[in-house]
Amino acid sequence: MKTLPALLLAASLYAQSGQNVAGTEVHVLPVQGNVFMLLGAGGNTTLQAGKDGALVVDTQFAELAPKIVAEIRKLTERPIIWMVNTHVHPDHTGGNEALSKPYGPGPGQTPRIIAHENVLNRMTQTGPNQPEIPAGMWPNDEYGTAQKDIFFNGEAVVIYHMPRAHTDGDSIVFFRKSDVVSTGDIFTPGTWPVIDLARGGSVQGTIDALNAILKLTVPARYQDGGTLVIPGHGRLCDESDVVEYRDMLTIVRDRVQDLIRKGMTLEQVKEARPARDYETEYTGVPGRWTRDQFIEAVFKSLSEARK
Ligand SMILES: [Zn+2]
Repeated sequence: MKTLPALLLAASLYAQSGQNVAGTEVHVLPVQGNVFMLLGAGGNTTLQAGKDGALVVDTQFAELAPKIVAEIRKLTERPIIWMVNTHVHPDHTGGNEALSKPYGPGPGQTPRIIAHENVLNRMTQTGPNQPEIPAGMWPNDEYGTAQKDIFFNGEAVVIYHMPRAHTDGDSIVFFRKSDVVSTGDIFTPGTWPVIDLARGGSVQGTIDALNAILKLTVPARYQDGGTLVIPGHGRLCDESDVVEYRDMLTIVRDRVQDLIRKGMTLEQVKEARPARDYETEYTGVPGRWTRDQFIEAVFKSLSEARK
């Protein structure tokens, strides 16, 4: 089994080493309707399973594929027909090939792997800093429009492109009958938003994407429950969690914008701690994404937009 090029792994802001991954257990959480959430290492996997087979959103790491398949088999005897990658990062795409081969629709057939075309473009780009990614990892059903929809296991599944958010190839997946949204890393409760500027992300695009998610979600009584939201990393959420996260990012964006207008440098902005009142609730990703990296990404994203 080929592992992903070290450089892309290093570039992933959430990726864990293969060593950590090997001992990880995969846990399944029934969400609602046909939808389940699989927690392991890397990003959360969303699974829709039923009489037609399985649809998998994000594939974690290749090393976890046997454990993910074992959990899918408990829910359906049928193969994986569809996969969706919410974005290019290897902790969300690492299992693409490993999950396709042993568990696809039939001999010589692989599942359709849907992703925005920018995911494929980034995976197929090679260069001095971008080693080759095996073709078996690539999406084979890319889309370049605002949305793509399929009908599977008796429900409409709508995939929306979210331009320039966490990266430039983000998709969110809406299971319309089950009433569940899978967001990828646009939404990571409890963690400072990761904005991957090098891969086309932006703070404004992330806020726009969070607002787009909020257009799909409808709360039940007392603002709890209703539409459920599976984040890129972290616990199962509902609309109020997304509102809180969107508000935090919007407020920090406004504060950093003000400080930039006052002529402050990046260092001065960091010292001013524009996210101070959120520092107990949000943390970084240890060793990979700190508060200051978040502030720097917001600063650079806004400075770029002003040019
Ligand atoms: Zn990511």
